[in-house]
Amino acid sequence: MKQAMLYEKINGKVKCNLCYRRCLIDTNKTGFCNVRKNIDGKLYSLVYSRLATYSINPIEKKPFFHYYPGSKWFSFSTVGCNFHCPHCQNYDVSQAKLGAVPDFDVPPEKIVQMAKDYDTIGISYTFTEPTVFFEYCYDTGIIARKNNLKNCFVTNGYMTPGAVKKSADFLDAVRIDLKGDNSHYKKICGNIKLENVLECISNFYKTKMHLEIITLVIPDENDNRDTVRMFADFLKPLSSEIPWHFTRFYPCYKMLDKKPTPVSTLEKMRSWASDFGMKYVYIGNVPGHEYENTYCPNCETLLIKRYSFDVKKINLKNGRCPSCGKKIPIVGSGFNPLTP
Ligand code: SF4
Repeated sequence: MKQAMLYEKINGKVKCNLCYRRCLIDTNKTGFCNVRKNIDGKLYSLVYSRLATYSINPIEKKPFFHYYPGSKWFSFSTVGCNFHCPHCQNYDVSQAKLGAVPDFDVPPEKIVQMAKDYDTIGISYTFTEPTVFFEYCYDTGIIARKNNLKNCFVTNGYMTPGAVKKSADFLDAVRIDLKGDNSHYKKICGNIKLENVLECISNFYKTKMHLEIITLVIPDENDNRDTVRMFADFLKPLSSEIPWHFTRFYPCYKMLDKKPTPVSTLEKMRSWASDFGMKYVYIGNVPGHEYENTYCPNCETLLIKRYSFDVKKINLKNGRCPSCGKKIPIVGSGFNPLTP
């Protein structure tokens, strides 16, 4: 347990300012995410140093396609989330009550040591929502930086401006969900406001850290042209070079009544996003699909060939397309996992 960052006291209650829910919490109560508690007028993180799950993952699994392709990352989380999505792939941890799944006392220094022992290039705060275990991320990330490790968040993008600002102290890259229109966020994620997610994305973009966007495409929920147009109209003024992943939905948790997304739907959405001006648009969760690959937006030369989470070939010359010389916005393209 550790005293929380980013909260204020209001008439005996505490207001958590980490995510846009901004829970006002009574004494001895927890916020919406269940892992932040008002104890005697102070807000505490109940999951500090309580690691619930970890693994070593390729960065393509997050997915990041334009950040150190083929690198491996120490990935971990605690329990807890500020969204309650009925299709969550990690619901057994994200929606678990504290103590319902085994967790382990692993302080930040130990996380960093494990990341080094596994020969990773950095630490990924993922699986559940890192915002709700922010203090654990922060302390780990600061130590990781001192040890020349990188840090990335895989987040639903509901962090307040204050939390985004603070995260710039240690984060290098962020992958944010952009799930659907306002009614989708309201219905699927539980009274979430799209405008806050968009503001969070803008704020991260302003920090200049590396940014990628993902849209999980759910049949009959967000698989329409208007949504793609709205998102492209928002993203393009930031940069048409922000990588955007359309990934395939599979039935999970409480959303078992829907079928997996047809591949043709993903192809349509990818094509709309390209038509609306986005330059690096991908299809995910369809191993072997041609749009798992990176192509030069100028001359269509194949630049990175992937199969699922594996990088099979990197065809870049000093970060540029070898055919037309276009600079390709891939951070760490010189890091080649295929070189022994
Ligand atoms: S992080 Fe948790 S306690 Fe804080 S505002 Fe969000 S849901 Fe509420």
